[in-house]
Amino acid sequence: MWYLKTKEQALLELKTREQGITQYEATQRLDEYGPNELKKARKLTPLRIFLEQFRSFLIIILIAAVVISLLLGEFIDGMAILVIVMLNAILGFVQEYRAEKTLEALEKMASPTAKVMRNGSIVEVDRREIVPGDIIILEEGDRVVADSLLLQSSSLRIDEAMLTGESLPVDKDVGIIKKQVPISERKNMAFMGTIVTYGRAEALVVATGMNTEMGKIAKMVQEEKAGETPLQHKLQKLGKQLGILVIAIVALLFFVGFYFENYNIVDMFLTSISLAVSEVPEGLPAVVTVTLAIGMRRMVKRNAIVRKLSAVEALGAVTVICSDKTGTLTKDEMTVKRVYTNQRVYDVSGIGYEPEGHISLSGKKVDPATDRHLSMVLKGSRLCNNAVLEKKKRHWSVIGDPTEGALVVLAEKVGFTKKRLEKETPKISEIPFSSERKMMTTIHKNGRGIVTYTKGAPEIVLELCDKILENGKVRRMTKKDREIVSGKIKDMACDALRVLGLGYREMKKTPKVIKFDEIEEDMVFIGLVGMIDPPRIGVKHAIKMCDQAGIRVVMVTGDHQLTAVAVADELNILREGKVITGDELQNMSDEQLNTVIENVNVYARVLPEHKVRILGALKSKGHIVAMTGDGANDAPALKKADIGVAMGIKGTDVSKEASDMILTDDNFATIVNSIEEGRGIYDNIRKFIRFLFSANFDETALITIITLLALPLPLIPIQILWLNLATDGLPALALGIDPKEKDIMKRPPRNPKKGILSGMMFFILAITVVNLISGLSVYFWGYSILGESIDKIRTMVFTTLVMFELFVVFNCKSEKHWVFNRETFNNKWLIIAVVISFGLHLFILYNPLMQVVFKTVPLSLFDWGRVLLLSSWGLLIHPKFFYKEKAFIDGHKKTVLDD
Ligand code: ATP
Repeated sequence: MWYLKTKEQALLELKTREQGITQYEATQRLDEYGPNELKKARKLTPLRIFLEQFRSFLIIILIAAVVISLLLGEFIDGMAILVIVMLNAILGFVQEYRAEKTLEALEKMASPTAKVMRNGSIVEVDRREIVPGDIIILEEGDRVVADSLLLQSSSLRIDEAMLTGESLPVDKDVGIIKKQVPISERKNMAFMGTIVTYGRAEALVVATGMNTEMGKIAKMVQEEKAGETPLQHKLQKLGKQLGILVIAIVALLFFVGFYFENYNIVDMFLTSISLAVSEVPEGLPAVVTVTLAIGMRRMVKRNAIVRKLSAVEALGAVTVICSDKTGTLTKDEMTVKRVYTNQRVYDVSGIGYEPEGHISLSGKKVDPATDRHLSMVLKGSRLCNNAVLEKKKRHWSVIGDPTEGALVVLAEKVGFTKKRLEKETPKISEIPFSSERKMMTTIHKNGRGIVTYTKGAPEIVLELCDKILENGKVRRMTKKDREIVSGKIKDMACDALRVLGLGYREMKKTPKVIKFDEIEEDMVFIGLVGMIDPPRIGVKHAIKMCDQAGIRVVMVTGDHQLTAVAVADELNILREGKVITGDELQNMSDEQLNTVIENVNVYARVLPEHKVRILGALKSKGHIVAMTGDGANDAPALKKADIGVAMGIKGTDVSKEASDMILTDDNFATIVNSIEEGRGIYDNIRKFIRFLFSANFDETALITIITLLALPLPLIPIQILWLNLATDGLPALALGIDPKEKDIMKRPPRNPKKGILSGMMFFILAITVVNLISGLSVYFWGYSILGESIDKIRTMVFTTLVMFELFVVFNCKSEKHWVFNRETFNNKWLIIAVVISFGLHLFILYNPLMQVVFKTVPLSLFDWGRVLLLSSWGLLIHPKFFYKEKAFIDGHKKTVLDD
């Protein structure tokens, strides 16, 4: 009952202190208590994955048929078919097991970290390494990592819906509870899995893993079942429809063959069922999963963790990227360059987070200690701040918000340390920053009274000030003063600086109750600080790539309109487009927004909820939108976007959980790289579908024609199975990892409304017809002209069909380019796969044992000449003539609507 204890008791009992435990103690405790994780309720075991391979109705019938033929004494045939079915299952198992492992590894990578005090300083660790006795820091947007008792808190509010069902966030505070109460009333505790919606706190971890309240409710931890992706769903449906068609044809074939043509019933049954097993594309969704999973692994290498398989698919179709500015398009390594106070503009020297540099006025170094106005700017900057500046191995870095980090660096450059300032005016409380309020205030003891410092968006702070500090005095602010300050804000913003305004308020006596909503009023305006935030390297190039790829880039930022415009201009995002502010957006109706949406390239001073509206308008135009977000309030937009993109470094847990994809480097360019990968993966899925379908239906057609003519069957069941389950399996897999075509980012996004098979039907039909003609030619050449034995004819048909597939696979690599080009042999896996398949076929032809099993005969050079002549026709088909050429239009609008 930790909530009944005082913090001193709890600290003592857990043998810890407010500075946290040491790393050594943490390691020991991790051994003692185990990792801080909930045991998974359901896990896909390897055995289950293996058994899944046999779940297909047709495979079960085939096995039943084999058992029957074994009983009838057809030992070799039966066993051979069983071996092929097993091989096929093993191949499927290996792929799916690897895909499962990849997904598991990705899930681990996406698992959030926690801010914790170790050895007296704040560090970020994997949430599984949190142990009882740790002191954790909770901030807006964090998911609480373990059950903990609050030690310090300001304005803390937590959403406990997942634990208590209470839909509204509850206020939490340090305090003693004297009697036993239910979980929902334990106000001094934060529970694992709940979400901090506002405020900040330090808390002592009292229980981890399965010992937490969340751990006790086992059903809560049921893993979410991974949903099917739209593509898998469509393929599943297609598979079923084709399945019914194939089974109907095959059933008819069996009936005709057995009833009218007097074929042997066992032969006919095994042939029919082998055809059905081979031709029903049941395994397709699984192969798609594997390809998507491999793609996900490749994306990790390019700094993107894709959390949902379906996102890989959607990525390839993105038409608009809505990106935050700060940290995504820019570096988020802010440096204060200018300070404005008392009608003077000061310059600040130094770059990055290194606290080296000075402040100067008209080129002359100034000592802030002798300049009251500058001192107030520095005090406000340093005290209204939670960032921590650290030096590790000669490298300076900031823990916390980079905007605040820049202010810390500014103050430390001229010796305004927090220790000294907080000694004079200790902090009592804080009204935290939020994107909605766009400001933050800290409250400090000041003799018998209090002093508060506020910093935030300059126009908002200015609005809340009615006095100004000037020439050493505080006086009422006039309209003229406001105009002058507004002019300075404009100047700084136009130079692409991020501007913050500063204000303070003094109260001679400490009020009995400090009312937060009254504190940020009637303030004294101190001045402005302007910081640079240079664009990230590579972003400009990425934007150019988007341009070529028909993808529009839109900036959606909380920052000042002019700062946004200056940065957008520099990055070539704005062009002839419009800028809209959050306020303007608020006053627009949906219809008005819809009419301008296609022309707006920058949204400034927006609130997170505006993102949802922007998304709605873009989606109503048929766009596929990727939208970035990092705050807890961005979660609805991230969920609504086709691709919600969260930031791995500065993103909150809540935003990460709502996202489809996490950027481990917070970089815009990574989104563009992922789209490129997404397009490549989609292309590859199309490639192997094209290949599998092209090489699929010819055998049914061939056997049907021969059966109708009442001639000896051209293939035996085991040959049919080998042809479909073994020969084309490896090349199809290799196509799944085919290199991207060079111009993949030079064509417009695909039309998301078009199915995966769109445009390829003619190609598939053409190949099937040519393949059928090859099969029939080789059959009748042997049967009618040369009068060969049936085993020889079957060996020739079998070999021709195998070789046809091995040739045609190269013609499935591109939708535009003919097989005779330099890129044909750029996939070494495909070459290896083809060589292996060919080698296996030679083994079947020339190994005496295989000759018995597959009823083959060795072929002579003359035979090979005939095979090559008839099997290479597929190469003659130029894909371009069989694809409906997509409309290549430079604007995305048209591509989406017309294609
Ligand atoms: P983006 O949405 O592109 O990331 P942003 O970081 O500017 O842009 P917000 O974080 O919503 O968006 O910030 C909005 C505004 O609030 C900023 O332009 C700045 O004026 C102010 N601001 C940002 N950080 C702080 C902070 N820590 N304290 C006080 N004010 C802040």
